[in-house]
Amino acid sequence: MKAVVFEAPNALKIKEVKTPRAGDNEVVVKVEASGVCASDIHILKGDFIGSDPYPLIPGHEFTGTIVEKGKNVKNFDVNDPVAIDPVIPCGKCYYCKRNEQNHCINFNGLGDTIAGGFAEYVLVPEANLFHFENVSFEEASLAEPLACVLYGHKRAPVHLGDDVLIFGAGSLGLLHLQVARHSGAANITVCDLKKDKLALAGELGADYVINPREEEEDSALKYSPQGYDVVIDATGSPRVVENAVKFVKNKGTLMVFGVCPQDATITISPYEIYRRDINIVGVFALNRTFGESIKLIDKGVINTKRVISDIFPLEKLPLALEMIENGEAGGKIVIKPHL
Ligand SMILES: [Zn+2]
Ligand SMILES: [Zn+2]
Repeated sequence: MKAVVFEAPNALKIKEVKTPRAGDNEVVVKVEASGVCASDIHILKGDFIGSDPYPLIPGHEFTGTIVEKGKNVKNFDVNDPVAIDPVIPCGKCYYCKRNEQNHCINFNGLGDTIAGGFAEYVLVPEANLFHFENVSFEEASLAEPLACVLYGHKRAPVHLGDDVLIFGAGSLGLLHLQVARHSGAANITVCDLKKDKLALAGELGADYVINPREEEEDSALKYSPQGYDVVIDATGSPRVVENAVKFVKNKGTLMVFGVCPQDATITISPYEIYRRDINIVGVFALNRTFGESIKLIDKGVINTKRVISDIFPLEKLPLALEMIENGEAGGKIVIKPHL
């Protein structure tokens, strides 16, 4: 089968590899849609989590059809459309026993430490499979990023009547926007440098949009003079995170969701955190939120179709990674290996 292989840091190849066969507790999934993520760039560069995974077939946001199943697989059949939770926790370590599997000490992940979805076929344990029936493979492939967003909202919940400020109107920012809306936010302001992304944020329910290129930096306070109950960074820009603290209402929360460079540092005033009762909350990946995520997409509660900007064949993965790195992606880029 054809697959993208990261052979070493910064060495990407598209080549023929052996097609997997299902073990007793696994299925082989024919990959229909596989989302490209900024963390794929981190994995390609070598700042992955865990031990040396090379050579690795990346891709952790994928859906497909079951084409072969092992003899112990009970709840899924050949031809079923499935979405895949890529997280494979050990189930035995300190964090797994606390139900904090995203911090598993022996973490494995499809497309992260073992073969993932930028290939024609993938081996998936039954435990990682989820059914869906009403949406396309592309729409369902956003279940993994949405599961991360949902985990963020469990960590920093939006309550009825809250004011919410979101930095970044990329695919993740737009998912945060929709989740905040459904959680009962009264006022959602979205900030981004690109006009077309802000227009889409408006269509998906933002009350106010701000372009810092055209307006003053503090203009978000026009729409909520006391600040915001929840401020979400979905940019991964250290400067944005640093600047975000001043938009948090007293006793409000700053959600650090975007992935900043590992060696970046910011300056914030500990006195301000103390004096204003501010919560700063990190969000790492997803944790048992995949089931809710695929259900919200399948039932049409969260619109993932509008968040997808491009559908590419496997050969264009290098271009997709380049577009993401240069900030040129209009939204989520989805790879279809059988296109
Ligand atoms: Zn991702
Ligand atoms: Zn564990």
